[in-house]
Amino acid sequence: MNFYVMTLFPEMILQGVNTSITGRGIKSGAISVEAVHIRDYTKDKHGKTEDAPYGGGVGLVMQAQPIWDCYQAVLSMIEERKAQKEFIAGTASADPANIQTDTEPSSPCPEDDSVSFPAEDDAAGEPADTGSTGTKRPRVLYMSPQGRVFNQQMAEELSKEENLIFLCGHYEGVDERVLELMEAEEVSIGDYVLTGGELPAMVMIDSISRLVPGVLGKIESAEIESFHDNLLEYPQYSRPEVFMGRQVPEILLSGHHANVDKWRREQSILRTLKKRPDLLEEAVLTDKEKKYLDSVRESML
Ligand code: SAM
Repeated sequence: MNFYVMTLFPEMILQGVNTSITGRGIKSGAISVEAVHIRDYTKDKHGKTEDAPYGGGVGLVMQAQPIWDCYQAVLSMIEERKAQKEFIAGTASADPANIQTDTEPSSPCPEDDSVSFPAEDDAAGEPADTGSTGTKRPRVLYMSPQGRVFNQQMAEELSKEENLIFLCGHYEGVDERVLELMEAEEVSIGDYVLTGGELPAMVMIDSISRLVPGVLGKIESAEIESFHDNLLEYPQYSRPEVFMGRQVPEILLSGHHANVDKWRREQSILRTLKKRPDLLEEAVLTDKEKKYLDSVRESML
């Protein structure tokens, strides 16, 4: 899976994602992260990417031109990567002579806007196919406090994409017209305002990456965790058996896997009821588990 982040602070993104589990995922090739510097695409001779808002008011707005050209460059990178992959796999339908490997197709400040994915709408409202290239237009996610709030379900949905493009805003935000042109989806990481979109993009990349096959190792499983079945995870314990007089629950030492699983599932239900009762409305429970939940609720009355 390939992440492309359009940003004014590429070093911030790269420092963030190149460590720990995402860093390992990048090294193994399970994911790739390109931080693309918006400033490299401005046509302003002073390198400016922002200007005062029309209509007056405080602050600055990120201008449309550098972002639009940066976006075109990212689309070229995606097309080029696809062509190379197909060529290597020996399935390239295009003439291999047309595949550029030594040039910079994403060269800053392209003079024309000829590389563009047509912004056709399909019936489902999903990003449209490009038609001529057969490549699905990648989803563009604009990090914004005004967007749909990111959650695990969205992470799961996005982890199935091959390419994702992030746009990190700054200042007062981004010229609305370029968001419309890119058909950007606004995504927020919570109801608070940050200084820029880099941290939200990194939060999303981290959470999506761990669902991409090959990113997590055997010891880090993404299968049963908080939000799986819309429940929170059960409590966890490790050595020693007794710590400061507190004993690990006996059942976890029993070696009886079925009983351990049942206990963990009940603990998940209990925790969710105590900490995030709102999740239970959508929780996936068996009839037995529903009865268990009802009995716990009754005992709490
Ligand atoms: N003026 C904007 C508003 O009131 O909606 C806020 C702009 S904010 C200071 C600058 C940038 O930070 C935004 O363009 C966005 O990219 C990012 N940002 C801030 N808070 C965010 C959040 N909760 N989730 C995602 N991105 C956020």
